[in-house]
Amino acid sequence: MKILILEDSHALAKIIALKISRSLDLEIEIAGTLAQAKSMIEEYDFSLALMDLYLPDAEGEEIVDFFLEKKIPSIVMTASIDKNLRENISQKKIIDYVLKDRTESVDFMISRIDRVLKNKMHTVLVVDDSNVYRTQISSILNTQLLNTVSAKDGKEALEIMQKNENISLVLTDKNMPEMDGLELTLSLRKTLKKDRFPIIGISTDEESAITFLKYGVNDFVKKPFFKEELSTRINNTLDALENVQLLHRLANTDFMTQVSNRKHFYHEMGIYYNHAKKENKPFALAMIDIDFFKKINDTYGHDVGDDVIKILAKTIKNNIKGQDIVARFGGEEFCVVLKDIHASAALGFFESLRAKIEALRITSNENEDISFTISTGVVTSAQESLEEMLVESDKYLYQAKETGRNKVCSDSELLLA
Ligand code: GH3
Ligand code: MG
Ligand code: MG
Repeated sequence: MKILILEDSHALAKIIALKISRSLDLEIEIAGTLAQAKSMIEEYDFSLALMDLYLPDAEGEEIVDFFLEKKIPSIVMTASIDKNLRENISQKKIIDYVLKDRTESVDFMISRIDRVLKNKMHTVLVVDDSNVYRTQISSILNTQLLNTVSAKDGKEALEIMQKNENISLVLTDKNMPEMDGLELTLSLRKTLKKDRFPIIGISTDEESAITFLKYGVNDFVKKPFFKEELSTRINNTLDALENVQLLHRLANTDFMTQVSNRKHFYHEMGIYYNHAKKENKPFALAMIDIDFFKKINDTYGHDVGDDVIKILAKTIKNNIKGQDIVARFGGEEFCVVLKDIHASAALGFFESLRAKIEALRITSNENEDISFTISTGVVTSAQESLEEMLVESDKYLYQAKETGRNKVCSDSELLLA
């Protein structure tokens, strides 16, 4: 993604650009005049622009309006904010204005850029019986680059929630016909916990803040509101949500290979196993282990050993489907679950994976070609329990090791070509 910094002090622009590129993965272009910015916009697609309001060839609103017209999300940088400017600027659909008077201001800019660019991934469900409020709130959130959907009451909100799995946050009014905001909150909280799914209450009635909070909302906004208050509360809530998501990801992921760890496998697979058994869905579970891995470590060193483990994880990940599961069980051992698949297709998959790994070459520091192989034990029919399936797949893995390695053994009678 590319962003534009429009600032006539080149030194300042360079400092800002350097600081941004150190913390965010963004490409940055610098323009010193509005004319320069205009020609750059012809050339590049900008996800966002940071702009000074005093330039040699333009000033104030003219600059902001140009970017709004070009539909480039904008953050205004100013040296000072007086009341007039604040009022004028905050009428416009800009993301925010930030001060550029101190070095710490750049850190604030960075956190604002980071937030709005992440906002593109989120959808907020706006629930209000007033069409005017629904439109106004949605427009404020869209300016923060959030996606929005809206509902006119709690009942419609629940219907939308059923259909749309992509909603990250619900912002709900209190008094509505059919189902009010409190009932909606109660209903959502039956399954969606506070730290994983935020709800923000909004109401003209100040006392409803207490009730809302007791019913389990994460925050409350009183109507009428300043749009900055609403967007700041939403942004803060999404920051908190992402922090929790990050913690869960770290707790569930194997650091070295970025696939699931063993603990998370049991959780994820436990749910799928029960579902597959009940619905009688075919699936396959395989244990994969690198052959003579100790020798790779001993010959080329531990770092190459690590690379081999990472490459195996990556190859598995690149070949399975999104719904399938891969987890690192320990050292050089992985468990793979293919969903909705019959025995012959599953065995075909693992045989082709075996061949792909055998054909892979890794270059060592001494420019030697390193190759390695894997043994695989596959179970294609559901057993009494998940534990039993794991024991069985281990048995076939052992059989593959005992009978020569670099092969797939399974419970299926099907012969591999
Ligand atoms: P086999 O063909 O029977 O599987 O023999 P093997 O040598 O692959 O099996 P073994 O289980 O005896 O050895 C696995 C080795 O993997 C032992 C351990 O030192 C090493 N190992 C475990 N975790 C890691 C890791 O994260 N990185 C590296 N480089 N080595 C690891
Ligand atoms: Mg200037
Ligand atoms: Mg091994």
